[in-house]
Amino acid sequence: MSIKQNLEEVEKRIQAACDRAGRDRSEVTLIAVSKTKPVSDIRQAMECGITVFGENKVQEIRDKTEEIKEPLNWHMIGHLQTNKVKYLPGKVCMIHSVDKLSLAEEIEKQAAKHDLVMDVLCEVNMAAEDSKFGLTPAEAPDFVRTIAKFPHVRVRGLMTIAPYTDDPESNRQYFKGLREILESLKSENIEGTQLDTLSMGMTGDYEVAIEEGATFVRVGTGIFGERDYGQTK
Ligand SMILES: *Cc1c(COP(=O)(O)O)cnc(C)c1O
Repeated sequence: MSIKQNLEEVEKRIQAACDRAGRDRSEVTLIAVSKTKPVSDIRQAMECGITVFGENKVQEIRDKTEEIKEPLNWHMIGHLQTNKVKYLPGKVCMIHSVDKLSLAEEIEKQAAKHDLVMDVLCEVNMAAEDSKFGLTPAEAPDFVRTIAKFPHVRVRGLMTIAPYTDDPESNRQYFKGLREILESLKSENIEGTQLDTLSMGMTGDYEVAIEEGATFVRVGTGIFGERDYGQTK
């Protein structure tokens, strides 16, 4: 299947999930996760009208934004080391993976240096998997309240990476749980936040995530095919 055909299939499924949930298609943004994939693949997706891309490595974002001059919306979705934050302001429109105070402080510092406000999501490890980064559901609310005070960081919502599974229904509880945390925070009307974003759902489970309120779905394999990690650093 070509990238174009894959995108048609993903689009059809997103629309169907929106229909099932009684949501408008415009409420859900597809992030095409292009990590490990060549610029030629990104260009094929661009030809199909895709303008929102996700990457999980700072170096790859730097390389790809160097090569592709067209204005695209890049999202940093992967684990982020504090010493790499300085490369991101002006390059990405959102960081999805904020899970430590020291990281939020560095984003504040670097965004201030660039005289901009960085949109961020706080990553929550809903299934308490040892292998994953993220705040616990219990820690998330206080963390959001704390970094809401940073003038150059705007908390837009929450992100989760659900367990890898063959049964997407088993992840519904985590998507629902993330939405509930966001709804509860929203009701506090925390100054310095704009809590309108739930980044959840990947190739294996994005339809369930949409049914549970996702506003960003992050789809890689379903668009670009399997990744070959052998080629990457
Ligand atoms: C790789 C990645 C994705 C995309 O995963 P697929 O299963 O290929 O759709 C989504 N979110 C994050 C954080 C990722 O690292």
